[in-house]
Amino acid sequence: AAGAELRDLLISRIRDVQDYPQPGVVFKDITPLLADPVAFSALVDALAELCRKHAATKVVGLEARGFILAAPAAARAHLGFVPVRKAGKLPGPTLAQGYDLEYGSAEIEVHADAFGPGDRVIIIDDVLATGGTAEAALDLIRRTGASVVGVSVLLELGFLAGRERLAPQLKGAPLDAL
Ligand code: AMP
Repeated sequence: AAGAELRDLLISRIRDVQDYPQPGVVFKDITPLLADPVAFSALVDALAELCRKHAATKVVGLEARGFILAAPAAARAHLGFVPVRKAGKLPGPTLAQGYDLEYGSAEIEVHADAFGPGDRVIIIDDVLATGGTAEAALDLIRRTGASVVGVSVLLELGFLAGRERLAPQLKGAPLDAL
């Protein structure tokens, strides 16, 4: 099936880097995938298809690797792109959402006027790990008044149970891992 072929192609272009950025972590490096025109284009097509399937009206990318995937997917689906950034990077009035990391905490922001009434938002990132980042993005976007119609990632690290953590926040919105 086309789905299994895509999956195999994508997985074959993701490189495991041991002990980065710290001992015990296996970092999923997507730069070989981005550098491969066939795999990158197939990934962007699949993400654009999810945008259409969920009838999204806006595409959010999470800084930084989410930007690389969400922006071309938005353009291919003929939708606008909205960046969710780390605190202090967006110039206009913003809404902010804090969340806990394994060590310490972080904050993400979105422009307060990024969405209009009735906007249906799909959130795109490269990797779903613990789900903390996606959870904060869900809360942040809903606080603007927009609805979230899906969370889509290239890769889900199942052993970290991000899907289970996210389930209550998804409120029925689909979590797609390509
Ligand atoms: P989390 O909030 O734990 O789901 O972490 C998700 C964010 O951290 C994503 O934006 C990923 O880009 C990044 N991330 C977490 N773990 C990894 C990993 N093992 N390899 C690559 N990126 C990761």
